[in-house]
Amino acid sequence: MDLTSKTIAGLSEMLQKRELTSKEAAGLYLERIAALDPSINSYITVTTESALADAEKADKRLASGTDITPLTGVPISVKDIFCTEGLKTTCASRMLEGFIPPYDSTVIKKLKDAGAVILGKTNMDEFAMGSSTENSAFGSTLNPWAEDRVPGGSSGGSAASVAADLCAASIGTDTGGSIRQPASCCGVVGLKPTYGRVSRYGMIAFASSLDQAGPLTKDVKDAAIMLGLMAGRDNCDSTSIDASVPDYAGSLQDNIKGLRIGIPNEYFIEGMDKETEGLVREGIKTLKDAGAVIVDISLPHTEYAVSVYYLVATAEASSNLARYDGVKYGQRVDIGSGLIDMYKATRDAGFGAEVKRRIMLGTYALSSGYYDAYYKKATDVRALIKNDFDEAFKTCDVIATPTAPAPAFKIGERTSDPLTMYLSDIFTISCNLAGLPGISLPCGLTEAGLPTGLQIIGKFLGEQDVLNTAYAYEQARGPITQKPKL
Ligand code: GLN
Repeated sequence: MDLTSKTIAGLSEMLQKRELTSKEAAGLYLERIAALDPSINSYITVTTESALADAEKADKRLASGTDITPLTGVPISVKDIFCTEGLKTTCASRMLEGFIPPYDSTVIKKLKDAGAVILGKTNMDEFAMGSSTENSAFGSTLNPWAEDRVPGGSSGGSAASVAADLCAASIGTDTGGSIRQPASCCGVVGLKPTYGRVSRYGMIAFASSLDQAGPLTKDVKDAAIMLGLMAGRDNCDSTSIDASVPDYAGSLQDNIKGLRIGIPNEYFIEGMDKETEGLVREGIKTLKDAGAVIVDISLPHTEYAVSVYYLVATAEASSNLARYDGVKYGQRVDIGSGLIDMYKATRDAGFGAEVKRRIMLGTYALSSGYYDAYYKKATDVRALIKNDFDEAFKTCDVIATPTAPAPAFKIGERTSDPLTMYLSDIFTISCNLAGLPGISLPCGLTEAGLPTGLQIIGKFLGEQDVLNTAYAYEQARGPITQKPKL
């Protein structure tokens, strides 16, 4: 087996036995990135120098045999939305050109403290707005399984870098599906934790009541390892939850006998891709055969989720993105006469089309006279969507659905019609609106060789149930033998 295709757990074992040094591991990934990434474009920045320095430090730690975590010396990639001290952070926007954060986001700090080696910053949709990574100022990322297709988004670079073995694992963010949908498109595991489980401090904000960071990994155990290291209360983020962090990886088990899995009929809709539906239903059968009890449930307000999301998310985005004015961060375009002209010119040149569209939609939804009709109404319906889940969880322990209605689409196929693009997230958005944890698992390839995803949604702080169900599925499904041909 190629070393670069190993899991975190697999690499960690070799590193701890000193069969491989962290520096050697980092070198292998960096070579592979140099050879393959020019065509896939999963990285915006490869941080060779600091990666090798991180690896050297990790090797000393490994040699000392103390303070070792499963991530010590393991090379990972991180979405370019996380502030990294001394390393350029772009959020895939021209707006942040030249921005070098003076501090690490909490998640980055935690992963570095655990001994992770950061290989670079991955490509994404600008400010995490999109489902295809086509809205990047640094060009599209290609899907490693089919280079004429998108990797999903917005964490498409992270998902592609894991699928193409250009890192052992990655981290992304998920506001409406941006970890799970690209994980599904690229055939990897992607976990969005409960809102507040992981600190948002230093993670560039898109929609603050929805944003959450999580891992993209090669298997479920790695997701459990990563989450355990990322999660926890942080005084720098008042929305982070003050609850102890379980040993997710240590508690992982595949006995799901009697576990009640709810299947919402609203998630198997007219017009969805038939092959995807078939593969997801097969996945559910695998869970049933492993001992789970399948129960029919209803999430009746699902049909409003996309509309609610595009009001709440754009409203919050319009406020969050007000800070990019050419004064505090990144680029400034100083033409015209005076401050207002400078703001206008900077924002016009700095933001891409989708970001501008969202700022306008959000500003409109919040404007006086429309606030009650749009934003307030959306937050009311959001409460109904959350309530649907509370009701459903009275009769089931976790919920299983498709992650996306279809496999990865062709590059360019949806760029001219934002609405069809928005519909890619139809099955992932409710989870964010309700603040619940969800995971996407690879559940087979279509005839054309494209990955599909099975989503497991859990209760508030129910990550362990989600991971255990996912682990049980993975064990029952057996190892994935196909790899993208690169
Ligand atoms: N695709 C969704 C959007 O465009 C979700 C993005 C995300 O989760 N960051 O907003």
